[in-house]
Formats: sequence, C-alpha cells, structure tokens
Amino acid sequence: MPPLMNNHGNYIVSLGLVCRWLAEKAEALGVEIYPGFAATEVLYNDQGAVIGVATGDMGVEKNGEPGPNFARGMELLGKYTLIGEGVRGSIAKQLISKFDLSKDREPQKFGLGIKELWQVKPENHKQGLVQHSFGWPLGMKTGGGSFLYHLEDNLVAVGFVVHLNYKNPYLYPFEEFQRFKTHPAIRGTFEGAKRLTYGARAITEGGYQSVPKLSFPGGALIGCSAGFVNLPRIKGSHNAVLSGMLAADKIAEAIASGRANDEPVEIENEWRATDIGTDLKRVRNVKPLWSKLGTAAGVALGGLDMWANTLFGFSFFGTLKHGKTDAQSLEPAAKHKPIAYPRPDGVLTFDRLSSVFLSNTNHEENEPVHLKVKDMALQKSSEHDIYAGPSTRYCPAGVYEWVEKDGEDVFVINAQNCVHCKTCDIKDPNQNINWVPPQGGEGPVYPNM
Ligand code: SF4
Repeated sequence: MPPLMNNHGNYIVSLGLVCRWLAEKAEALGVEIYPGFAATEVLYNDQGAVIGVATGDMGVEKNGEPGPNFARGMELLGKYTLIGEGVRGSIAKQLISKFDLSKDREPQKFGLGIKELWQVKPENHKQGLVQHSFGWPLGMKTGGGSFLYHLEDNLVAVGFVVHLNYKNPYLYPFEEFQRFKTHPAIRGTFEGAKRLTYGARAITEGGYQSVPKLSFPGGALIGCSAGFVNLPRIKGSHNAVLSGMLAADKIAEAIASGRANDEPVEIENEWRATDIGTDLKRVRNVKPLWSKLGTAAGVALGGLDMWANTLFGFSFFGTLKHGKTDAQSLEPAAKHKPIAYPRPDGVLTFDRLSSVFLSNTNHEENEPVHLKVKDMALQKSSEHDIYAGPSTRYCPAGVYEWVEKDGEDVFVINAQNCVHCKTCDIKDPNQNINWVPPQGGEGPVYPNM
C-alpha cells in the first residue's frame, strides 16, 4: 500500500472528546452553542436564498398536539448559513434536492460503521497500535473492513464498516461485526475484557466524484454533509475540519467586503485545489473498483491505482463512476439465500438490544415517531414481500420489526431505540423511510467514542 495508508505519527483520539474540547474553545471565543436543539427547517428570503434555520418545536405529543411542556422552536438567522450535520443530514438532504446540488455528480455512496469501546487487560494492550483489515467475515463480493485502535488507559476501539451497496437483503451488518471479533487474530485482544460502549453511524464513501456542489444561495455544505471521507484510509475528520476552515475563511472575507446571503461560490470553486482535493483525488477509484470487481481484485487494483496517483499524479482508469445508489443496489430476496449467523455468547459477541443499551440513546416516549414511512402499503408489498424486510437486519439498533398481528405482518418502529445512524434513510430499497430530527437533544450519548 502507498505511504498515504500509513498511520505512523498519527494521534489516536476520541472524536467525542475532541468535539467537547473544541466546544469550550469556541465558547471562549464568543460562539454560542445550542446542543439541546435540532435544526429542522431551512429559512429563505423572498429571493429564495437561505437566511438561516429554525429549530423544531419541543414538547409535541405523539398525536402531533402540543403537550404540557410545549415550547415553540427558534429562528436562527445569519448572513451566511453553513450546514455541517454529518452524513445524510436532513437539512442537507433538503438543500441538495432544492438547489440540485448533485447535478452532474456521481451518486453519494455510504457505509455503515458499527463500533464498540472495550477496556482490555493490560497485557493485551499496545498503546498506539492501529490495525485495519478488509474482507472476512464478509464474502468477496461485499465491501467492508475493520479497525482497531489502542487508545490510552487500556481502551481499545473496535469497529466494522459494511459498504451499503451490498446486494443480499439477508446480510446483517451487526452480526458481521460480531462475527469479526471471533477471528483468531482478533479475539485474543478481548480475552477477559469488558465492553463499555456501543454506537453506529453511516459514513460517506463516494469520495471525490460524489461531492455535491458545496455552495448555494446564502451558504454552503461542509464536512460529511458534503462527504469528504477518504475510504481506503477510513478517515474523514481531517477533511471535515479543513472544509470548515476553508468555508470560514471565505465567509469572513465575504462579510468583510459587505456581502450577505449571496452564494459563496468561491468555496465550491476552490476546494479541489486544497489538501482535501489532493487527498480525495488520489483514492477516487478505490471504491468503484472494489464495488465492480469484488474484494480481491478490486482492492489489488485500487492499491495499484493509488500508487500510480501517488508516484505519477495520474490514474490508468481516469475517474470511474459509481453508477447505482446504495438503495438501488439491493436485490430481491428470491435471488439470495438467508445467511445463518452464530448466536451471541454474551462475552465477546452480543445481541442488538443489549448493545443499544450501551449507546445511552434516549427519546421522549410520547413524541411523534421521527422515522417517517411515506407509504405503508409499499413497505409491505415491496420491503417485506420482495426484499424480505432488510430493515430488520440493516438497522444496528433493532428499530424495525415485522410482527404478525391478526394474521397480517405489521411494520413496527421502535423509534426510541434509534441511534441516528441514518442507514434506513439510505438503504431502504424504495427510499420510503425519511429520517427527521426528533425533539432536540435526543439520541445516543457517546461520552468517549
Ligand atoms: S432507525 Fe434508521 S437511523 Fe435509527 S438506528 Fe435504525 S437504521 Fe439507524
């Protein structure tokens, strides 16, 4: 693998802790942070430019009526609005659609990352060790891989990413991750260890050719709302930070010159010439090669292509396309066989519900469901009847179930378990599930992930 894949000299940190540390720095500079509120709506001026966002109403009951703790949302207005909601942000999704920001771009691609934090025995801990793998236990036709990071204090973060363009609706990403930990090269690390926390999140994988147009009238997309993950390195935070810095510089210049609520098009025009562009361009063919040729040939050719880009600054393949969206990649269940997964042992491998408990996720019982199924009849006739209910497997929190009631299979949504990974919004074969923000301040709490 080329030098860009090396991790020597990098720091291993908890991003949750970095964010808390950064928040203190920002507040000391006068930035106001409202962590208990979720932006739910985009605000426009008469010319159609974005002028801010509104937070959702709090204290709405399940029936949509205001409850005893009802509080109206707030409008937050600005000269420019930067959207950094992470992967598949609900506001970003609206803006990408309204301003057609994905026009002439390849579809965005995603993976589902599932992660656990463990306290291991001192003799099994090697501070600073980073291990990456790809393939097993996934078959050669499904993309994905793992990471192990040995942090300080005998902590080890272990995770597994499954590329969401998988075809077999019986694939069960959570179970693939559990099985991964049983590999002889991995399981020893966790002997006598204790699992502390659990979490899951979709990541962007489309890379260079899938980044939408960043600017729109009144603002821009930044971070993973745009999608700057370097797939082979399984890293995106560095580019997310750089995109925020680029946007901040350009917006500060615009405001200093008296501009407001116009399109900061310089952000879109300049990002490819920055370190973000250089980082993503070199690896742009890894994902399409992996998707088209499978793990063995795809990763080998992807490695070769990264060398060519690193040494000579060009690719034998030009820029390859991704083609289908991840939702379109799913095939009818009739083309596939169910996969038998081993039962959890409760020591190294676990079930989903005990895992969700460790994510500290929390939602008000009596609020409206934040996972909106647009057409329930379609969910039954297609998601259930044709695809054999993949939501019951791809959701890492066990939110979705098909339950028999009076002789009929009924779709049950246990919304209070949702860890906000956004996989259902991405992978539902009919794009029939829309994730909207629940009441502010809810969802998983990851103290040190
Ligand atoms: S319901 Fe959707 S967003 Fe929530 S955990 Fe499940 S797949 Fe992720």
